[in-house]
Amino acid sequence: MAIYTCHDMIRDCRAGNHAGWSYLVTYYLPVLRTLLHQYYAGRAGDEQLIERVLLKLKSPQLPLYAANPSTEREWVCLLRQELLRIVELDKASDAASIPIDLETLTQALEPFTIIDRQFIWLETMGYKAESTALMMNLDTSSVTRARERAEEALRQHMDHWRRGLLLENGLALSLLAETSRGANCLPARAYLDTIDGRITWSHKKDYEFHLRQCWHCVDAFCRIREVDFALRGVKPLAEAEARPYHKLLGVPEPKKGLLQALFAR
Ligand SMILES: [Zn+2]
Repeated sequence: MAIYTCHDMIRDCRAGNHAGWSYLVTYYLPVLRTLLHQYYAGRAGDEQLIERVLLKLKSPQLPLYAANPSTEREWVCLLRQELLRIVELDKASDAASIPIDLETLTQALEPFTIIDRQFIWLETMGYKAESTALMMNLDTSSVTRARERAEEALRQHMDHWRRGLLLENGLALSLLAETSRGANCLPARAYLDTIDGRITWSHKKDYEFHLRQCWHCVDAFCRIREVDFALRGVKPLAEAEARPYHKLLGVPEPKKGLLQALFAR
């Protein structure tokens, strides 16, 4: 029997088939929980919020089911964006006390390398130095040093400044970056090849040149890193854990096989 994959799920969700919603709960609810903890630590334990998110995700017309991603990681990036959109519509996060825009970042961080830029962007996404170092396979002290230098550079470039503005502006910066896509922006394949070590020297140079001047691509790259990291640590839900959510989404209980029925209590 052919293995059911993320691509089959996307097709089934688009068609509104139960198999798609069932797989979404079993395989991606754990990822959604991980991301909720990351972005909404105070709300991640709210079981009703999780149910509202799942019910909103059960909409065949959502763009994430129209996508044709080349890998699961690309699709989970879309799922992540949809999750943040749903949670923000449910109850919007507070705006930053002092806003930062991409121009200010570009000016303040002009001399920073593309590795430093990712360290800093992952700070806007709320990743502590230790997790960032694990995600990028580099050492924690390099992350901390780059972030300290960024704080100082911002302090010098801004009329009003206080420590921690990068994290406070995370959501706003991510929205600004998402909408700033340009004609020369890199395809998702570029980030995946870089993470997976399949990149050629000439491509590497081209990508680095672009990443030095484009926050849209730094953001997209960091989101792929985030998803790659999140998928490493999660396990699918056991049937008993998934059952209440399947019921919530109207997925019928699977028919028990003869042996299962014999041994069922
Ligand atoms: Zn770009």
